[in-house]
Order: sequence, then structure tokens, then C-alpha cells
Amino acid sequence: MIVKDLSRAECLELVAASHTARLACSLDGQPYVVPITVAFDDSFLYSFSMPGQKVDWMRANPKVCVLIEDHRQRSEWRSVVVYGTFEELPDKIGFKRERDRAWEMLQQRANWWEPGGLKPVPGPMVSASTHLFYRIAIDRMTGRQAVDDQRG
Ligand SMILES: Cc1cc2nc3c(=O)[nH]c(=O)nc-3n(C[C@H](O)[C@H](O)[C@H](O)COP(=O)(O)OP(=O)(O)OC[C@H]3O[C@@H](n4cnc5c(N)ncnc54)[C@H](O)[C@@H]3O)c2cc1C
Repeated sequence: MIVKDLSRAECLELVAASHTARLACSLDGQPYVVPITVAFDDSFLYSFSMPGQKVDWMRANPKVCVLIEDHRQRSEWRSVVVYGTFEELPDKIGFKRERDRAWEMLQQRANWWEPGGLKPVPGPMVSASTHLFYRIAIDRMTGRQAVDDQRG
């Protein structure tokens, strides 16, 4: 196996093609990672959520890290680490264009609303009015790729 860095264009290609990512946030020195659905546009990753721990933590500390991976085989993979900043897109004047963009981009992902809209205990949390859109502004990213040097 050979590991090499991905160019910025290769990083962007993987990020744009990905539907699922691992979102890491942290609070008071405690990291927290969860899978989320994402849609990339320009220099932002858009996503959707119900209120909960990750949103509380990102509001308190907007610096986040996102991992995007593509595993073909054990010896062949690509991954991108995105360093970014959480930006909430509230349902308020001044955010309409960004919310519409989030909606438009996420619509391209099958069932994009489902995993982020469900909680283990049904209750007031799942009422439609509490959901939120947000985006991660990409500050910088790095990418690596492993290729199987034994093949062919
Ligand atoms: C493929 C996939 C796509 C997803 N897409 C989205 C998305 O687009 N938007 C979205 O909001 N969520 C999505 N989820 C669900 C997400 O991973 C979280 O479970 C969910 O967002 C709840 O996170 P929270 O911080 O609000 O948890 P809370 O409901 O506040 O609960 C916090 C507690 O639950 C635990 N917990 C939370 N989530 C998980 C988990 N996945 N596994 C184990 N323990 C957990 C935490 O450790 C903590 O103890 C997706 C999950 C998968 C597998």
C-alpha cells in the first residue's frame, strides 16, 4: 500500500460526492463524534438536525472537524479531514437565501431529513418546528489516499 496526499481538487471531488460524514465537535475538552448527512456547495457543508447535544456543543464552540471517507477495499481508501466553523441558519430574516440553498442541496440526498429528524424517544423534540439547518464553513482541509501497489 502507498499513501499519498490528495490535491485540493481531489479533496473537493470526494467531499462533493459524499452523502455521509463524521462530525466532531468538542466542549470543555471532551470530543464528540456522530455520523451526519451532508451536502457540499461552494465552501460549505450543509446539514439538518433536531436540537440535541451536538447542536448545543457547536453553539457553545463553533470550531468543528469533519471526516469524509471512501473505503473501497482495505488497501484502497481516500479520506478528507475538514477543519471548519459551525454556522446556524435560523428561520429568520437575513438567512432565507442560505436556508433555501441548504434545502436545495440536501434535497439531492435520498431521505436526507430522516436520520437527523428522529430521536430514540418520540416526544415534543420531533415536532417539525424544532428542526434546524446549519452549515460548516470550510476553513481548510487535508486529504490522503491509499493505493494498492501490489495490484496489476
Ligand atoms: C448514516 C447516518 C446519517 C445521519 N444523518 C444525520 C443528519 O443529517 N443530521 C442529524 O442530526 N443526525 C443524523 N444522524 C444521526 C446522528 O448520528 C445522531 O445520532 C443524532 O443527530 C443525534 O445527535 P445529538 O447530538 O442530537 O444526540 P442527542 O439526541 O442529544 O443524544 C445525546 C446522547 O446520545 C448519544 N448519541 C447520539 N447519537 C448517537 C449515535 N449516532 N450513536 C451512538 N450514540 C449516540 C450521545 O453519546 C449522547 O449520550 C445520522 C446517523 C447516521 C447513521
